[in-house]
Amino acid sequence: MSKKIPFVTKEQLEKIVSQYPTPFHLYDEAGIRRTARLVNKAFSWNKGFKEYFAVKATPNPYLLQILREEGCGADCSSYTELLMSDAVGFKESEIMFSSNATPAEDFKLARKLNVNINLDDITHIDFLEKVADIPETVCCRYNPGGHFAIANNIMDNPGDAKYGMTHEQIIEAYKILKSKGVKNFGIHAFLASNTVTNEYYPELARILFELAVELKEKTGAHISFINLSGGIGIAYKPEQQDNDVLAIGEGVRKVFEEVLVPAGMGDVKLFTELGRYMLAPNGALVTTAIHQKHIYKEYIGCDACAANLMRPAIYGSYHHISVMGKENAPCDHKYDVTGGLCENNDKFAVDRMLPEINIGDLLFIHDAGAHGFSMGYNYNGKLRSAELLLQEDGSVKMIRRAETPADYFATFDFGEYGPKLAEEAKIKM
Ligand SMILES: *Cc1c(COP(=O)(O)O)cnc(C)c1O
Repeated sequence: MSKKIPFVTKEQLEKIVSQYPTPFHLYDEAGIRRTARLVNKAFSWNKGFKEYFAVKATPNPYLLQILREEGCGADCSSYTELLMSDAVGFKESEIMFSSNATPAEDFKLARKLNVNINLDDITHIDFLEKVADIPETVCCRYNPGGHFAIANNIMDNPGDAKYGMTHEQIIEAYKILKSKGVKNFGIHAFLASNTVTNEYYPELARILFELAVELKEKTGAHISFINLSGGIGIAYKPEQQDNDVLAIGEGVRKVFEEVLVPAGMGDVKLFTELGRYMLAPNGALVTTAIHQKHIYKEYIGCDACAANLMRPAIYGSYHHISVMGKENAPCDHKYDVTGGLCENNDKFAVDRMLPEINIGDLLFIHDAGAHGFSMGYNYNGKLRSAELLLQEDGSVKMIRRAETPADYFATFDFGEYGPKLAEEAKIKM
């Protein structure tokens, strides 16, 4: 059982807040490095192993640089993510480009940077050839269709998912690509998200390893890597059991030795594209309780809202909340913890038992380090918050400033409203 403990103390956080007003996202460098090292250790038995961090989870160059220092690559899905990864210094095969419904410009940039391209569909072969060219190394994304079910009630319906190629298509795609001069192939699939079981990767690995053997036999292709993609989840709830990534690595190794080694494919490199597992627990949304409201229920109004962390609002996701300084106080008050959007789903928690919250209390919303800031938006004219990095030496560095009204209005065609808005939002025109 994991007990959720904030990675900062109340005293530390108060000091941070005296310099940087809430709300903000706070990341823990030591935790990020620890997680990266653990993942690398879990797969160290595979010589070519590389974790390509899913940039979309937490697209901040400072965090990407930390992961790069730990030996990770970057998994990009868009033009801007490619630009960011390139700027951080990831080179060529240190970047995976796993996109779908891909614009021509994105493929052009991916080819210019010579990164590993993961094709989502068989028709993308022609598309890529038209807008750029076909590289020597190509990965294809597989969708086995049907229904995917494993332990702990984890299910997904690949047959309903928009991603990847069918079994028949991926064989055909390999043949076409081979005829166009492709020398090294990859296989990729992403079948279930936020899995909290040590079985997901080994099960997925079996599907992909068996497919790899079949593709090699049927097309003669040289398969150089297999990308298990993302999907290893975290225990968002304190009563959940965390994944054991060492056991996961060991589970994949068994299948590797059972399926790939006897087929003479023991040199296949394994890749992952974890986002959530790498960063979610190593980041938090910090907000201040600014209002208390007593109507038919008890409400705590925060200075952060779903625009800063939308998972609870759109998926009903659980995010644990620590009231700083009251970690050991009894949870004898029932609250809805809300943001200020004009949307009734703007609640970080519903009917949550928490210690009594006073105005001014700092709330530490756990596990917001992935798919948190990055899913932010500007609804209701809310501004994106700052991102802060708690460095290993205990000091804090601002790695993205908070948006200002000037940022919000920056894309306007001001026309006749210009001068007044510029004055009010302090925009230089
Ligand atoms: C979202 C995504 C990931 C990361 O998923 P997590 O659940 O954060 O691990 C990896 N690869 C691709 C292609 C994705 O779309």
